[in-house]
Amino acid sequence: MKGVWGRILKVDLSQGTCTAETLPDKVYEYFLGGAGLAAYYMWKECPAGTTAFNPANRITFAGGPMTGLKQSGAAKWSAGAISPSINLNADTAATASFGIEMKETGYDAIVVHGRAAKPVYLVLDDGKAKIKDAKKFWGKDAYVTEDGIKEAEGADFEVVTIGQAGERLVRYANIQTRKKSFLGRSGLGAVMGSKLLKGIAVRGTQTCGLHDPKEADRLNKEINKRLAELDALKPEWLQIKRVGTAMATELFAPQGNLPIKNYQLADFPSGVKNFHASNYAKELNAKPWPCKYCVIQCHNLCEVKGGPYAYRGKGPEYESFAMVGFNTMVDDIKAVAYACELANLYSLDTISLGVVIAWAMECYEKGVITQKDAYGLDLKWGNAEAVVELTKKIGERAEGLGYLLGEGCKIASEVLGKGSETWAVQMKGQEIAAHNWRAQYISALNYCTGVASGPNHERGNSQHIWVGHIRLPEWGIGEVENEERWSWDKAADRNAKFHDYCNIINSACHCKFHEFRGYTLTDMVKTINAATGWNWNIEDLRKCGERITTLQKILNIRYGWKTEHDFQYPKRFMEPVDSGPAAGKIPVGLDDAIRDYYRVREWDEKGKPTKKLIQRLGMEEYVE
Ligand code: SF4
Repeated sequence: MKGVWGRILKVDLSQGTCTAETLPDKVYEYFLGGAGLAAYYMWKECPAGTTAFNPANRITFAGGPMTGLKQSGAAKWSAGAISPSINLNADTAATASFGIEMKETGYDAIVVHGRAAKPVYLVLDDGKAKIKDAKKFWGKDAYVTEDGIKEAEGADFEVVTIGQAGERLVRYANIQTRKKSFLGRSGLGAVMGSKLLKGIAVRGTQTCGLHDPKEADRLNKEINKRLAELDALKPEWLQIKRVGTAMATELFAPQGNLPIKNYQLADFPSGVKNFHASNYAKELNAKPWPCKYCVIQCHNLCEVKGGPYAYRGKGPEYESFAMVGFNTMVDDIKAVAYACELANLYSLDTISLGVVIAWAMECYEKGVITQKDAYGLDLKWGNAEAVVELTKKIGERAEGLGYLLGEGCKIASEVLGKGSETWAVQMKGQEIAAHNWRAQYISALNYCTGVASGPNHERGNSQHIWVGHIRLPEWGIGEVENEERWSWDKAADRNAKFHDYCNIINSACHCKFHEFRGYTLTDMVKTINAATGWNWNIEDLRKCGERITTLQKILNIRYGWKTEHDFQYPKRFMEPVDSGPAAGKIPVGLDDAIRDYYRVREWDEKGKPTKKLIQRLGMEEYVE
């Protein structure tokens, strides 16, 4: 087959070796690439009993058949490993140019295991790999490290790095590239830290052959042109070029979707005003900062000149400022943007950070944490300075509260007790993102049943049916009524389809923001066929999505998932809010909906794949 190399770089940090391995076509036909390839390597090499910080844990960085095409959105790539927050297999995706450059080295993926004897970074230069001493970067933040590696190796390298939070094993540490794109959620930055792997630099000149380069070129041009024309027709879409996902504030506020005061309130008028897209653009001086070939252009560069929160860098995305701002009741947009950028430097996932700080604030309000515990900080709701300072303490893993909060709010609440478990808004050890379960029940079902990365809005974004009005008619997601937000009818079926859809997107390696803007699954399947030489249709794509989901479920079971974990959801969402569009709504009936999801998926009553499903998908060899 074409479109991929069929070649993987294996790195053993304990032995200090780098070797190439070839993969049969069938692996790609079954699992495509990206997230699917990461799951495949977990299945192949990482035995039961492996934990996140064990040297046997594999961390895989993988592109897919679309990576590197000159098509808008084809900058995506994925990484996967056993997560230190959920203690299950997890994957995550980013954009920028690391995936494109990695493919140009002549490899589809890099799979790292073992633990180095001292801090190191990996250099993969046009097919040649070398492990190098990272002593001078250890203890430095993620951006300084990226600059340092580029200075040492060459400015044309693409680099991923971790900051101090990754080194110090914060369970929600992320991995960054180009100071603007992040492998967030699930703490894979701490997996790098546990291996003493500070960064990876890649550079390549090799072009992966395509089955039908003329057709691929035609599709790239036709799709890019169509998306640009559609964008121009809808002025409301154009603001994403300046403010990115920050435009979600005005969409989500009237839906009751915002996370306010640790998910206790329905409204926060000063926050809604200050985080409105127009104010964001003005106060943060936001400008487009897109990925290669992208016509949607959601990433933005911000600059705050002067004052205590001066910075120039990544503009916070909706999830970031919603959790660090709305959820802590801080309405100072400059302070929140600054705290988010600090988190990026340390390599802290901003979603978990916002939940953890809000949990600490509620503990403070209820007397579980004192001002003395909090380094003298007054952790009252809305205290911007306290949020900024606490971010530093967590990033540095300062002794005491900073260290504890780096464990995530599940472990922290188990340590502190006094009822604080009831306001720890987490599930399976991972903090919940900025879509309110009360505003559309399908969010609850997504979090409870997700297998790709535990409870994760990104890996089954069924909430987008309502929050972003996404429709995928080719995938069986047609028109919906607004009232269906609070109905379980069809929720299991839609949720299953979204889980498989997200697996396809993250395995083919394409940016899912494009599906909001007129990109179709027919576009995707045609592009995959032109690249690989396959003759797939949408049904083949769906079956592939099902296979990846099933493999992830098999891995969940291998690493210790139990049925009851799906039913241990945060209690906070069972407390109604008394005003706003979601007033009085709580996802009653969720347990039955989870069981319905199992049925739709052809899983048994315990949530495990049935023999019939395994046979239908031809996955007998993967069952344990
Ligand atoms: S929409 Fe955003 S994340 Fe996606 S490719 Fe474009 S700039 Fe990158």
